[in-house]
Amino acid sequence: MKIVFATNNTHKLSEIKEILGEGFEVVSLADINCHEDIPETGTTLEENARIKSNYVVTNYHLDCFADDTGLEVEALGGEPGVYSARYDETTDHDSEANMCKLLRKLGDNTNRKACFRTVISLMINGKEHQFEGIVEGNIAFEKSGSNGFGYDPIFIPKGYDKSFAELGEGIKNQISHRAKAVQKLAAYLKKL
Ligand code: IMP
Repeated sequence: MKIVFATNNTHKLSEIKEILGEGFEVVSLADINCHEDIPETGTTLEENARIKSNYVVTNYHLDCFADDTGLEVEALGGEPGVYSARYDETTDHDSEANMCKLLRKLGDNTNRKACFRTVISLMINGKEHQFEGIVEGNIAFEKSGSNGFGYDPIFIPKGYDKSFAELGEGIKNQISHRAKAVQKLAAYLKKL
């Protein structure tokens, strides 16, 4: 089965290919010659994931799935959420600036509860199905570790005492929000 993953992130692409295994030909946006910047104008992760998968189905007439992820901090009313990539509005997708803003806003608040949430929107045979993956944890008081990306240096998953950036890819890929959502997607696709 051929299916488009609406991304050009090679790391995400190889992760899903490994989980899905043979029998699925997963192609990226570049592989279908889609070089447009799909506008992420939604106000929720669900909407943004749907906008991306729907864009490919409408314009390229191929089955497709797309993902969107956000970090949701309880004491900040769920911020940065859908705006995680561009939380600091004075910079352009700058992880350091985003983390600084988050730590500044949280200050010494003792409620550090947060979660990463991934939503995958699958558009197949004209219907949409969504899959969610969540990892709960806490926001550290300061950054630590050098692996990973985004907010990894300040996110400590529940049950651990190290940040995602310290734990590294091996553990992260077993317990992460994205891994959980991708596993649900894979289980669904394999049953088709
Ligand atoms: P995306 O939807 O996967 O592009 O994620 C949006 C933003 O959420 C990214 O730009 C990162 O700032 C943040 N993010 C997503 N996944 C992770 C993760 O696994 N670790 C740290 N930050 C992440």
